[in-house]
Amino acid sequence: MESINGRSVPLVSPIHLTSVYRIADLDCIDAINANDGEGYVYARDGHPNATELATSLRTLHNSNWGVVTATGMAAISTAILALLSQGDRIVASHQIYGKTKKLFRNELSRFGITTSWVDTNDLDAVRRELSQSPTKLVFVETIANPLCRLANLKELANTAHEFGAMLFVDNTFASPVLCRPLDRGADLVMESLTKMIGGHSDVTMGFLAGSDPQQGEQIASSTSTWGLTSSPFDCWLVSRGLATLELRMQAATRSAMSVAQWLERQPNVKRVIYPNSPSHPDHHLARSFYPDGAGNMLCFELPDREAVNLWMRSSPEIPFCPSLGHHTTTCSHPDTTSHRFESDADKRLLGITPGLVRLSIGCEPVVQILSALERGLRAIS
Ligand SMILES: *Cc1c(COP(=O)(O)O)cnc(C)c1O
Repeated sequence: MESINGRSVPLVSPIHLTSVYRIADLDCIDAINANDGEGYVYARDGHPNATELATSLRTLHNSNWGVVTATGMAAISTAILALLSQGDRIVASHQIYGKTKKLFRNELSRFGITTSWVDTNDLDAVRRELSQSPTKLVFVETIANPLCRLANLKELANTAHEFGAMLFVDNTFASPVLCRPLDRGADLVMESLTKMIGGHSDVTMGFLAGSDPQQGEQIASSTSTWGLTSSPFDCWLVSRGLATLELRMQAATRSAMSVAQWLERQPNVKRVIYPNSPSHPDHHLARSFYPDGAGNMLCFELPDREAVNLWMRSSPEIPFCPSLGHHTTTCSHPDTTSHRFESDADKRLLGITPGLVRLSIGCEPVVQILSALERGLRAIS
């Protein structure tokens, strides 16, 4: 932010559309590089819109450092590229975002970084896996995609640390409104800003923060060197979304609780998956960590794929778009989108069926959401 000093300045930060900065003289560039001068040099290394956004997000996550990246995947990549090396091992939850799985399985393996998969809701299994061989990183989602399994971050952090590993948390489904993983003992946290934090489906970005200041410096440098940084306009858009994050998250979470309860009463809905529902395997964790609702994501199951087609065609107010966190309600279908390339056996093991619909609840009035859902359900009854 600019200081005022007897002038007037724009209330809303300008978008600094410049890739490079004009520098007064050689002493000035030396001072900037030594970090005791004010200003920027080259936009890949940093720019005012990135600084503003990273500062706001760092405050929300109570972290020592934070970097914004071009996408959520870039935030995960930059942590690994900066902190892991050939021969290192990751232990990851078997319920994570499909692209993260692909990154670990198909990309990192080419650089000699291996991943073992484990059910992170089973702490004994995590401990067993960690005792097998040295592990650098344990990776988990706060609220896992798509079945909303909840991670007990404090227990996982303690267990990881016991074995000398860092805990890296993907907090995208929770956002800092519901959870601040660093306060629960995690070493690193990332958010896909593309989702709830951006909130308007017009930008892709990511954020990475952590507790160790030295790692922060290493990561800022690696992010620029690998070229994973973000543009001024994108940062500006996310800053604008972030301004209403808490209001949107609270409204959407309240509605998600109501929608889950309403869906449970509908005869052609086979199953509802929401952490606060008594039927959810983690409802005891939901009760202690998220008593007012575990976010805006939920799933429900229809009899089969054709029922999903009928439902979608009859509830056009809930568009089918394979993302989440929009300010109005959208739906997705894990079987044909996020988990398309998983084997049938793995999908069944996780409980992903052709009838499973994932909802990202928005902040329009809840009656509007319920009437759209009802129209769709009438079409299949
Ligand atoms: C979308 C998403 C990502 C990746 O973020 P992008 O901004 O799409 O790169 C990672 N984790 C989760 C849980 C996500 O939903």
